[in-house]
Amino acid sequence: MATVNGKILLKNASFNDQHLIDKCEERGGYSAIRKALTMSPPEIVEEVKKAGLRGRGGGGFPTGQKWGFIPKDTDKPIYLICNADESEPGTFKDRLLMERDPHLVIEGIMIAARAIKAEWACIYIRGEYGYPYVRLQKAINECYERGYLGKGIFGSDHNLDIVVHRGAGAYVCGEETALLESLEGNKGQPRLKPPYYPAVMGLHNCPTVVNNVETYAAIPYIIEAGSEAYCKLGTERSKGTKLVCVSGHIQKPGVYEIEFGYPLLKLLMEDCGGTFPGRKLKAVIPGGSSVAVLRAEELEGVTLDYESLQAAGSMLGSAGIIVMDDSTDMIEAIVNLMHFYAHESCGQCTPCREGGHWIAKVFERIARGEGMPGDLELIEDICSQINGRTICLFGEALAVPAQSFIRKFRDEFEARIREGISSRKVSSFPIFQASL
Ligand code: SF4
Repeated sequence: MATVNGKILLKNASFNDQHLIDKCEERGGYSAIRKALTMSPPEIVEEVKKAGLRGRGGGGFPTGQKWGFIPKDTDKPIYLICNADESEPGTFKDRLLMERDPHLVIEGIMIAARAIKAEWACIYIRGEYGYPYVRLQKAINECYERGYLGKGIFGSDHNLDIVVHRGAGAYVCGEETALLESLEGNKGQPRLKPPYYPAVMGLHNCPTVVNNVETYAAIPYIIEAGSEAYCKLGTERSKGTKLVCVSGHIQKPGVYEIEFGYPLLKLLMEDCGGTFPGRKLKAVIPGGSSVAVLRAEELEGVTLDYESLQAAGSMLGSAGIIVMDDSTDMIEAIVNLMHFYAHESCGQCTPCREGGHWIAKVFERIARGEGMPGDLELIEDICSQINGRTICLFGEALAVPAQSFIRKFRDEFEARIREGISSRKVSSFPIFQASL
């Protein structure tokens, strides 16, 4: 684990006993929920709105605003879900939070539940996360033993139960409506929006808030220190701090907590130690594998926040930064990614279900040196038939990297089509193992 300026989320994560409730409380754990219980639910929502906290799962939607969509006069139960189905390639920040500081996540859930008046919460964790699951469940058990969960938490009039539900390992269950389908015992397939906006028609058609692990983990600080203190961190439009995951051809990979606005190249070349000796930075995927790749020369002046990365032609996404040096074969890299996305399509929409496999096959034949003139245009055409024509954003998650790899590294693709396999460069570091 690594921190650039671990002020909030990783403040205590380096302590090896932080997962134990006694140690966590010695370091200030569960003081924010005590404070929140003296506030009214609308006051908590207002504080989170003023803090400008945006969803950390990838969408970046304002959290307080999302909570505000819950109907005020409903007679249905209100549910709260913590999305811990962290499946985006290159992203492993939630795992670290759940393993190292599970009580921070639980405390954030408690405060959010108070804000939206939910008495039942569920942490939906990806099936592959065995160790984080054990840590979370132990932490929840400790809370029940102390009366921090159950009837009248912390001696208040608020009841709250939290359960942990393990998924079965589908990428698309990280999409909030697919997650809800899965929780209801159905196939994890996304629902149409509208009408199925979770705030109104969520779990079992009841009002539901779904937020990401990191989003909840930021809430105790906002309540404890106040929105004003939180707003002092970050930039004008991207407030607070963010966990970023750095992986690939980099000397010091890991999870770093940065203030929004931190220079991307400074993080990679100084804090993360840069590329390996003798190698040059070639490309970076800055926000998990479903966002557009950027060439090294495009990174100059780019900062880690929603606006700067968008202006550079990519996205912050889940902040999974995948680094590629000059030994990387970009064609093999995209073949690998397309295999992943084709495999993970839930199959409901024809453009996504068929298009993903089609794109993967065309990229594969190019990688083998058997590409044909017109193949790149064919892939562009398939992508244009996917974008905007599917039930969920998975379609774009598949098409955007395919298009960006071609647009940014067209010369390499054209050389492989023209010259065959002889133009292939072998990757020195197997982050991408194309199944050719
Ligand atoms: Fe399923 Fe793909 Fe359609 Fe999303 S876009 S609903 S993953 S088929």
